[in-house]
Amino acid sequence: MTGKILQGLKKFLSLRSLQARFFIIMLVAGIVPSIVMRYGILASYEERSVQNRISNVQNQLMIVGNHLISNNYFNTKPEGYNGGVSREVIDAELGMISDLYEGRVMIINSSLKVVKDTYGISQGKTIISEEVIKCFRGENVSNYDKEHGYIEMTTPIIDTSANSSVIVGVMLTSISSDAITATLTVLDRKASILGNLMLVGTMAMAIILSFLLTRPFNRVTDAINEVNAGYSNERISVPDYAETVHIVDAFNQLLERMRALDTSRQEFVENVSHELKTPMAAIKVLADSLLTQQDAPAELYREFLVDIASEIDRENRIITDLLALVKMEKKARELNIVSLNVNDLVELILKRLRPLARKKDVEVVFESMRPVMAEVDEVKMSLIMTNLVENAIKYNKEHGWVRVELDADYQYFTFKVSDSGLGIPADSLAHIYERFYRVDKSHSREIGGTGLGLAITKSAVLMHRGAINVTSVEGEGSSFTVKIPLICSTAG
Ligand code: ADP
Repeated sequence: MTGKILQGLKKFLSLRSLQARFFIIMLVAGIVPSIVMRYGILASYEERSVQNRISNVQNQLMIVGNHLISNNYFNTKPEGYNGGVSREVIDAELGMISDLYEGRVMIINSSLKVVKDTYGISQGKTIISEEVIKCFRGENVSNYDKEHGYIEMTTPIIDTSANSSVIVGVMLTSISSDAITATLTVLDRKASILGNLMLVGTMAMAIILSFLLTRPFNRVTDAINEVNAGYSNERISVPDYAETVHIVDAFNQLLERMRALDTSRQEFVENVSHELKTPMAAIKVLADSLLTQQDAPAELYREFLVDIASEIDRENRIITDLLALVKMEKKARELNIVSLNVNDLVELILKRLRPLARKKDVEVVFESMRPVMAEVDEVKMSLIMTNLVENAIKYNKEHGWVRVELDADYQYFTFKVSDSGLGIPADSLAHIYERFYRVDKSHSREIGGTGLGLAITKSAVLMHRGAINVTSVEGEGSSFTVKIPLICSTAG
């Protein structure tokens, strides 16, 4: 149990686990927007506050600026008096603005001389600053220096008494931004507390969700493990997600294939045992009957021994065919490809089988449409051709015929064996390639069939990526056609 937890933890930390990935994705999806929002809101609050402050101060300075013009401030001596409003009143207005915004206002005339400084430091001095010159040119400037905590701005003093507006002076103001910074600090602290709470909440949610979302996959693993351990043999079902349904479907199909394979293997073993036992049983009966008969004549011994020898031959044939079949399946991927003259091979096989045909007086003819060269496995090709021609002779009538045809196109060659034999009943056609299947068991036994010939043939054809087809009419004859690629690759 602890090992399982440790293994799970290791998988989680190596990020190979789906749960870890879910967790991280959800955490990132939950936290990143809140961080972006936090800094975005704070930055926009700061920008808006600075803008507000600038426009408030600018408005008030404009009013003061108008007073300056209407009172001809630039042309009066500090103690002068003009048109009812004394210079002190304007100075007091400026002083009030500076106090209110914790700042400093300097009034600069067109010869860049400071005519008023609320700090009283630079009065009478000439100021050459880029901002002031820009302002005289009609360009309003405002700077926010966050590091040092102040906002600097220029305000033009415009004389509109003449026909056109003329900038006769500039107010250079710097005000403190400490209030904004203080509010920002408070807001930042609150946002940070909220952010941390959200982080904890998101983490908890990410853990719970990643656990819940991956649970169906754990259920799939558990179900497969149960089948694997042999506790269950049922089809498994985890319908939570489309993905789990796909995985489970694929697993169920695999399970069914394995079961089918298992059944077919069992059947095969049963068939093999049965087939091998039949000649043994016959031998046993023959031997027993000789043993029970006292003073049996020598001819009877001889007769029975001939039968025993033929049963042993049969047993031998079955074992040889079985070995050929097993070898073929074991070496399914191994084809010994050689460049082969197919016409020569057919001639050779027919020569070997002619004595068998002669025994039944079956005429064998070979029609070759063209010389065929192919890259195939010679031994397996020879097995295919021998089995088909041998069957055509074996399951023929006396004085019948067998026709072997060979043809090719640019991709395939076709080898066709037709006979005038017994034919195969329609309902047996689908089974003739099965191992140990025989249409007429007793007849097949009589003529030495094992029921494995066509299984071996089909397996060899498929190994060459070819195809085998049969047409047959019961009582009239059959025709087997094999189509093989001229060039067989060993790959796959
Ligand atoms: P066997 O060793 O018994 O011949 P095969 O696998 O070669 O086994 O053939 C399976 C069965 O198909 C045979 O028992 C036979 O009944 C039938 N069969 C095969 N070839 C022919 C044919 N040319 N004509 C009639 N029946 C055939």
